[in-house]
Amino acid sequence: MTKTVLISGAGIAGLTTAYWLHRHGFTPTVVERAADVRDGGYKIDIRGAALTVLERMGVLDAIRARKTDIRSGSVVDARGRRVAAMDGDTFGGRVHGDAEILRGDLARILYDLTKDEVEYRFEDSIADLTDADDGVKVTFAGGAVQSFDLVIGADGLHSATRTLTFGPGFEHDLGYRVAVYSTPNTLDLDREELTYVGPGRTALTYNTTGDDEAKAMFLFASTADTRDPGAAQRVLAEAYAGEGWAVPQLLAAMPEAPDFYCDSLSQVHLDTWSRGRVCLVGDAAHAASAASGQGTSLALVGAYVLAGELATANGDVSGFHAYEHELREFVAQNQKLGPANVKRMVLRSQAQVRMSMAMLGLLNRLPGKDKLMAKVVESIHRAATAIDLKTY
Ligand SMILES: Cc1cc2nc3c(=O)[nH]c(=O)nc-3n(C[C@H](O)[C@H](O)[C@H](O)COP(=O)(O)OP(=O)(O)OC[C@H]3O[C@@H](n4cnc5c(N)ncnc54)[C@H](O)[C@@H]3O)c2cc1C
Repeated sequence: MTKTVLISGAGIAGLTTAYWLHRHGFTPTVVERAADVRDGGYKIDIRGAALTVLERMGVLDAIRARKTDIRSGSVVDARGRRVAAMDGDTFGGRVHGDAEILRGDLARILYDLTKDEVEYRFEDSIADLTDADDGVKVTFAGGAVQSFDLVIGADGLHSATRTLTFGPGFEHDLGYRVAVYSTPNTLDLDREELTYVGPGRTALTYNTTGDDEAKAMFLFASTADTRDPGAAQRVLAEAYAGEGWAVPQLLAAMPEAPDFYCDSLSQVHLDTWSRGRVCLVGDAAHAASAASGQGTSLALVGAYVLAGELATANGDVSGFHAYEHELREFVAQNQKLGPANVKRMVLRSQAQVRMSMAMLGLLNRLPGKDKLMAKVVESIHRAATAIDLKTY
């Protein structure tokens, strides 16, 4: 019998799970709250085992063809002077062939790969689910009621599937907010990234290949409620009020941005990722936070392992347990990166900023500085490769 699987969420985890489940002979349906696959967001790094997953999907060349191609990254001071400059890969912490791509481009590639074979239901979501003896009875927000053999929650950090199945309360706020949006390229950047560090708030802007515009990104210490975009924009404007460099002009572009994104830096920790016929994947199960630089890679690897173990178990829920067994340690290692990295990315005080700028200035004059920096990112590489992927 072909097993029917409902996947909630057409993000990176949901799209990848749909691809692999279909390839293993399941019949996946994806329900996505938004009207289309969501574009926008930041540039993301794909590292280690996640590259292998994309290679096995046959899309690694397409991913590399859409790489951001950022050639250099610099830290600037309040007057815009470059305190330290590095090549783009070193600045972004990429080693050993890691790939950087816009999140929206990756989502589009994965959607195009599956759209003719997988049923997508946009502008709908799961309103309720009941795990019964013969399957999971799902009531959709649009009113339809349908049963599926299995349900997978791939609906991100604030997963509704998780709340319906496990209840609320598994998000751990790290105390920072991240915002990203498109801006006019007023600094005339050509595949370059600039970062400015103020006390408790970091701002950066970059231009990627083939883009006439630039992106602005803000990472700042805050526990404010930023779920409503209007409220998030007010919080952001207040957090950066009076800040130097190009911050005022980046902020001025914010109200017009068509793709404003803001969320908390949070992690999700659960003792188990499945209950009965319902299982979680990606951020819904184990968000590591933007600062880990590994959220998307974890989603890709998790989706691959989940679909593979389900196939091995012929669709039995024992596949959920095997998936968790395979992935737990890998996830734990990558989650550790989040809190550690954010402390380096957002400095607490003006004194810390001054000291850090002085050290960066020194580093900038050292011969072989790129090699030195590459060593710093080895810990990310170790975490990104800390799983032996089975062939399913
Ligand atoms: C538009 C967008 C921009 C992003 N930008 C950033 C960023 O700048 N920085 C950062 O750190 N992370 C960002 N992320 C999160 C990042 O993509 C994830 O951490 C990572 O890729 C793991 O992916 P995921 O598939 O588990 O979750 P996500 O990428 O969050 O995907 C979840 C998907 O589920 C959908 N969804 C949510 N709730 C429901 C529901 N109730 N019913 C149906 N569908 C639902 C969402 O619309 C989304 O398509 C962004 C996510 C999105 C959707």
